[in-house]
Amino acid sequence: MILLQDMTQAELTTFLTAEFGTKPFVAKQVYGWLCKSVEFDEMTNLPKSLRARLQEKCVAVAAKIVRTLTSKIDGTQKFLFELWDGNVVEGVLMSYKYGNTLCVSSQVGCRMGCKFCASTLGGLVRNLSAGEILGQVLAVNALGNGDRYVTNVVLMGSGEPLDNFDNVTKFLRLASCPEGINISLRNISLSTCGVVPNIIKLADSDLHVTLTLSLHNPDNDERKNIMPVTNAYSVEDAIAACKYYFEKTGRRIIVEYTLIDGQNDSYAHALKLASLLRGMSAHVNVIALNPVKESGLKGTSEKGLKRFLSYLEKLGVSATRRRTMGQDIEGACGQLRRRYLEERYD
Ligand code: SAH
Repeated sequence: MILLQDMTQAELTTFLTAEFGTKPFVAKQVYGWLCKSVEFDEMTNLPKSLRARLQEKCVAVAAKIVRTLTSKIDGTQKFLFELWDGNVVEGVLMSYKYGNTLCVSSQVGCRMGCKFCASTLGGLVRNLSAGEILGQVLAVNALGNGDRYVTNVVLMGSGEPLDNFDNVTKFLRLASCPEGINISLRNISLSTCGVVPNIIKLADSDLHVTLTLSLHNPDNDERKNIMPVTNAYSVEDAIAACKYYFEKTGRRIIVEYTLIDGQNDSYAHALKLASLLRGMSAHVNVIALNPVKESGLKGTSEKGLKRFLSYLEKLGVSATRRRTMGQDIEGACGQLRRRYLEERYD
């Protein structure tokens, strides 16, 4: 199947001209519809015959919303998107004063094996194409009035974005191009568990998004137990790559630190973290683990979280608690997808 949302406007024009003999203005119309996340039969200004021919060979909506959960606490919405082959991924829309941030997935499943994460439990199923990542943004954008419903995007849903480098970077180009939804790269964040060579590659590209490193432990041996990626790339190498990213882009690094009870929340951990981040332009986001039943791990208590934050403050580390949103709607990464699949295959 050919996913039309994978293409830039110029690529779409070339493709439609070659395959369907359409004029450039028709390609422009199709492109406009694709940005609105509508199916071919809703593209009402196109001839019916063209719509039928497109339908045979192509996919218009790369990610279709099949389920929506809305938090009663803060209005956060969780979406389940269905892809053309029946696979599903999830996304979360959070509303802030400055706009709406959509968290999107970059892979179906994940092969990074982080012990606390539900997305990786079934391994990697497949990479998402650029259009399937963009499609999540377009589908949610279409829920709002006007073109600017989604103002910020974070690549923090299921998958490791830097394990799908080519499609993710193409997505960044599609999302930020002026003919499309034109989201500035400054408003896009990419979160990685630390795939070092691709942090360097991203730094050397012109795609200067905000980089988030999921660190969770400053000690290599301990981190290996919860994040196997540490066997390939050490904590020091990941930090060095982040420093390089900052030098090339001028963009401050965000460090994610999920507190797991008794595992990474002591003063010694705070001290090691502070020394690791010394001399680096970084901000630490602290959050308590959202327990996933399969992992057996527990989140640090409220008291423990405050204590850890106070350690960081004393040590001069810039850190805040990340607001947890949508607690009542299958909060943790990958949980909604797992429940949906369990129900579907029961
Ligand atoms: N693979 C990327 C992006 C997806 S995970 C990465 O590792 O950054 C997005 C974030 O959610 C990461 O910081 C990850 O460590 C965190 N996360 C995953 N499961 C979690 C859980 N159960 N509780 C708290 N944070 C979790």
